[in-house]
Amino acid sequence: MGQHISNDDVSALDFVSEEYLRKLQLDRLQKIVKHTYDNVELFRTRMQERNLTPADIRTLKDIAKLPFTVKTDLRDTYPFGLFAVPLSEIVRFHASSGTTGKPIVVSYTQEDLNVWMEVLKRGFSGCGLTRDDIIQVSYGYGLFTGGLGAHYGAEALGAAVIPTGGGNTKRQIMLMRDFGATAICCTPSYFNFMIEQAEADGIDMHKLPLRAGIFGAEPWSDEMRKRIEAASGIKAYNIYGLSEIIGPGVAIECEHQSGMHIFEDHFYPEIIDPDTCEVLPEGEVGELVLTTLSKYAMPMIRYRTRDLTRIISEKCPCGRTIRRIDRISSRSDDMFIIRGVNVFPSQIETALLSVEGTTANYNIVLYTENGLDNIEVNVEINPALFSDKISEMEKLHSKLTRAIENVIGLRVRLNIVAPNSIQRSEGKAKRVTDNRIKA
Ligand code: ADP
Ligand code: ZN
Repeated sequence: MGQHISNDDVSALDFVSEEYLRKLQLDRLQKIVKHTYDNVELFRTRMQERNLTPADIRTLKDIAKLPFTVKTDLRDTYPFGLFAVPLSEIVRFHASSGTTGKPIVVSYTQEDLNVWMEVLKRGFSGCGLTRDDIIQVSYGYGLFTGGLGAHYGAEALGAAVIPTGGGNTKRQIMLMRDFGATAICCTPSYFNFMIEQAEADGIDMHKLPLRAGIFGAEPWSDEMRKRIEAASGIKAYNIYGLSEIIGPGVAIECEHQSGMHIFEDHFYPEIIDPDTCEVLPEGEVGELVLTTLSKYAMPMIRYRTRDLTRIISEKCPCGRTIRRIDRISSRSDDMFIIRGVNVFPSQIETALLSVEGTTANYNIVLYTENGLDNIEVNVEINPALFSDKISEMEKLHSKLTRAIENVIGLRVRLNIVAPNSIQRSEGKAKRVTDNRIKA
């Protein structure tokens, strides 16, 4: 298997017959369950509590018998408690910040890194990239999986990498232009910032060789994609991943840009009801649960991602047999409840961007007033409109308030704020601040 990344026809793995794929998945599942059982105490104990042994996995459906793994398991066993190989076999660590307390640590053997490179290579070629491309990697390098992940994937493809990392935006744009970057990897919010910076520097992105953006690491809406594509002339592809599973490259769109093909020969997807934990029928929206079928340093069995999506089982026009998952609307953790109504930040983004004249610079503040929780939305509009007549601004204001109300069913306090007053992001954007007074 170690040689597969040098195979030029690696994307053929996306087109295998379903029968072959299911057999491969079962074979790999049985091996990884045994490997994890033999080497990870937490998993073995949970299996024993259920009277299960690896031999109980006879069909793919049997996966539903296995215990889930959750984020707190990674924290509780910090740093190395879920490793399933000796440290001598580990060649890389990454860590994700997490919002509270200890970070979570993940690790890779060389074979695991090869799998990661393989899926990214397959993914990049699915977006039409080849060894002739010049790929700028503007995800953060370091412990975050984004930078190094995309970097090695792009090299495995044979493309030329510009490893700019995040930040120093003016210089990024200069290098993008001078080196003739044809593709870029970063968060969608950071690319929005780049579009603004390019404009400010008098550089027309439409005239640059840049033609593709591989955007992920945070939720973004289809409206956002439309905005990005119109403002830059590139095609914007959605890429999904998380450190616990491998990093970016778990799933990515093909040239049809309609859902992300999940590399299910390596990452086995299930969708569950987050409350009952029952596996949902294919096509229903729920929490994505992933099992790593070929990652040996730190295998994840039935990892609850908290990310909400659905499996799209209809065939994609590209002919790939690996299935797709829908755009991740949100992490279930990002949802907030205001006066009994469930609200996702992505709904507010969609509403805002559906109105002409807004920009993608917005944030959401939750606050309490007279004992009631409320939502405040701050948004920047096109600077040219900002100085317009008061009456025009008022019209836009009520249009925006209505657009949001239509989507979430609540009236929000909306502020049109001055150009450049909202913090720009160089990585994952922080959209929501919660100032509510907890009763
Ligand atoms: P952290 O948990 O510290 O943010 P990760 O980089 O591992 O660290 O984040 C992974 C998470 O980022 C995913 O679980 C998901 O919530 C989010 N994410 C990644 N890619 C996308 C995407 N394309 N669309 C929506 N959310 C995404
Ligand atoms: Zn496709």
